[in-house]
Amino acid sequence: MFCVFGFQLRAQRALDTIETAAGKVVLYSNKTWSFLQVSTFDGIMNPRIHDQMKAQDPSFNHPWSNEVCFTSRNDMGKLKDTLWLCVNNETDQHFHMPAPGIVTSRYGPRNGRNHNGIDIDLETGDTIYATWSGKVRYAKYNDGGYGNLVIIRHPNGLETLYAHLSKFLVYPDQDIVAGEPIGLGGNTGRSYGSHLHFEIRFYDAPINPEEIIDFAAKELKSENLFVHRGLFRPGAKPTDYYEDHPAEVVQAPVVVRTPQVRYYKVRPGDTLTEIAARNGTTVAKLCQLNGIKPTTVLQLGRSLRVK
Ligand SMILES: [Zn+2]
Repeated sequence: MFCVFGFQLRAQRALDTIETAAGKVVLYSNKTWSFLQVSTFDGIMNPRIHDQMKAQDPSFNHPWSNEVCFTSRNDMGKLKDTLWLCVNNETDQHFHMPAPGIVTSRYGPRNGRNHNGIDIDLETGDTIYATWSGKVRYAKYNDGGYGNLVIIRHPNGLETLYAHLSKFLVYPDQDIVAGEPIGLGGNTGRSYGSHLHFEIRFYDAPINPEEIIDFAAKELKSENLFVHRGLFRPGAKPTDYYEDHPAEVVQAPVVVRTPQVRYYKVRPGDTLTEIAARNGTTVAKLCQLNGIKPTTVLQLGRSLRVK
C-alpha cells in the first residue's frame, strides 16, 4: 500500500511551441521558455506504482505514445493485490471538475456494449479543465468516434480522457496543472449534441468515474482510491474505438423498391420484335421475362410481361 506524488509541475501556463534547430521550445505565460524534452521520458510517471503492477503480473504495460488512445492490452483480471492511490493532494494536486454541467449519461452497459465514461452536458465553446495535474499524452482528432480528444496521464497511473472537443488548448507532452483549461467542449466525432464524454482509466482499463467523483456535489468522493480487480469490467480490454451511443445512430430510412410490372395482350399480326419496340424493351428481355424463345408462336389474347 503506498501513496506517492513526486512530479514536478510548472505553475505557469504554456502558450505555444516553436520548432528550432535544437528541438521544440515551449513558451510560457510568465515569459520563460524551455526545451520540450521527451526523448528520455518513458511515460512511467510513478515508478513505484509501475513496479507494483509488474510485480503482480509482468505483462502489465503502460507505454507512452502520442499517436494511439490506448497503448496496451492489460487484463485487469490479473490484478491480485489492492493498490492504494491518492486522487487528491493538499499542495499541488487539487482536483478540479472537468466541466460544471449536469450528467446526461452514466457509465455502464448500454445496448449490449459498455459506455466507458460519463457524459456531461455543455454548450460548444465551454471550457474543459484538467481534473488533476499530469502530462498530456494525446491531443488530436481521433477517427474512432471520440472526435477531438485529449488524454492526460497523471502521476498516480490514472489517465483522464476528454472527448468531442471543439478546440485544443494543449499539445502532446505538455505538463498540466489541475484546473488548467485544456480545450473547449464541442460535438466532434460520433456525438449527437454538444457534450463532454469523460473517462477515467487505469493502465488503459476504464473505471466508472462515479467511483471517484461525486458529480452532483462536484467534488471527490474520497482522497483515496483503492484499485482492485472488482473495480473493472470483467474481460474488458482497451479499444481504440469509442463505444458510445450506438442506439442514437440515426438510420437512413430503408427505401423498398417495388419492381414495375406491366403486361401486354397479344393482338393479331403482332410479332415479338414489334411488341418489344412498342414497349421500349428487347426480344431477349421479353423471352427472359416470359420464359419463351424468339421462335415461340404467340397466341392471340396471351398476356406477355413487358416490364
Ligand atoms: Zn459518452
